[in-house]
Amino acid sequence: MKFVDEYRDPKTARKLVDAIAKLSSKPWNIMEVCGGQTHSIIKHGIDQLLPEQIRLIHGPGCPVCVTPLKYIDKALAIAAQHNVIFCSFGDMLRVPGSRQDLLGLKAQGADIRIVYSPLDALKLARRHPGREVVFFGVGFETTAPTTALAAYQARQLKLTNFSQLICHVRVPPAMEALLSSADHAVQGFLGAGHVCSIMGYHEYLPLAEQYKIPIVITGFEPVDILQGLYLCIKQLEENRHVVENQYQRIVTQAGNQPAQQLLRQVFDVVEQDWRGLGSIAASGLALKEEYSPWNAEQRYAVDAIDTVEPDACRSGEVLQGLLKPVNCPEFGTSCTPEHPLGATMVSSEGACAAYYRYRNHD
Ligand code: SF4
Repeated sequence: MKFVDEYRDPKTARKLVDAIAKLSSKPWNIMEVCGGQTHSIIKHGIDQLLPEQIRLIHGPGCPVCVTPLKYIDKALAIAAQHNVIFCSFGDMLRVPGSRQDLLGLKAQGADIRIVYSPLDALKLARRHPGREVVFFGVGFETTAPTTALAAYQARQLKLTNFSQLICHVRVPPAMEALLSSADHAVQGFLGAGHVCSIMGYHEYLPLAEQYKIPIVITGFEPVDILQGLYLCIKQLEENRHVVENQYQRIVTQAGNQPAQQLLRQVFDVVEQDWRGLGSIAASGLALKEEYSPWNAEQRYAVDAIDTVEPDACRSGEVLQGLLKPVNCPEFGTSCTPEHPLGATMVSSEGACAAYYRYRNHD
C-alpha cells in the first residue's frame, strides 16, 4: 500500500526500537494523548518492545470516553421524545447512561440512527420535514468542523427541524489541566496528529515553554509512534522542551485555516466538563447565540436531568493515566466490550477496549 507500507515496515520499526534503547539513560514517562495512538501502541505491542524504563501513559484522547454522563442522559431524554429522529456516531449508542443506553432505548422503539457525519443528519432533516432531527456532536477539533458546517448550512437553509446536541472539546486545555494537577507523572507528550491536522500546533508552543515539557506531534502508524517517542526521549535526555512535528506529511504549524475560521464563526470557546477530568476552562465549544435555534439543549430543555455515576467503573483514573485498564478489578470480568460498564470499554478508541482486544488473551 503506497504511502502506508513505509510506516509499518518492521525493519524500520526495529531500528527505531534499538535507537530508543541506546538513547534512554533513565526512566521516562510519556503520554500519548490520542486514543487512536493508544490502540496502535497496544495492537502492535509497541509498549512491550520498548526498554523497561520507558513508560507509556494513555491519555484522555478518546472522544466517546470523555463525554460526560450528563450528555449521555440528555441524549437519551431527547431521543425518547415523540417525533424525534436522533442521530449519533455508532459508539455513542452503547455508552451506558445513568439508567440505560441509546441502543436499549432504540430497542424500545425510539427512532435512533447511526450516521457517519452530521451532514448525513442534515440530509435526513431535509428528507423528513415533518420530523425533528437531532444530531449528537461529540469529539475533538478533528470532528468539530463538520458539526460547525452542519449548523452553518442549517442556518443558511433556514432548516427549522434540525438541531444539534453538542459536546465538542479542545485538546490543549486538557493537556494543560493534566500538567497543572499535583499528581501527574507526565514528562513528555505525543501530540494527537489528527487534531493538529486541523488546528496546527501553534497552541502547543506556550504549553511546552511554560511547563518545560517536550511535545512531539505524532501520527498513528507504528513507525510514526516510534519516531515520535525517539524525538521526545531525545529532548528529555538533552534537557530540551520544544514542540516538534513528526507528522509533517499531514500537519503544519498553522493548520487548516478554513476549518479554524468555520469553528470561530459557529462556536464560542467555553468552560467544559470532561468525564474523568472535571471542568476545564476554555476546553469546550458551544454554538454561538445566533445558532440558538439549532441548539438542541435549548430546544428540548434537558438541563435538570439527575445523573447517577456508576460506582464500579474507574475510567476517570484510566483517562488521567493513573490506572492501567488491566488493573481495574472489573476488567474482563464484569466489564467486557459486550457488557461494558464504562465508555473506555465501549469506544473503539477507548483504552480499556484496546487492552481487552489485544491483551486479554496474553
Ligand atoms: S475496565 Fe470497565 S469498569 Fe474498569 S475502568 Fe475500564 S470501562 Fe470502567
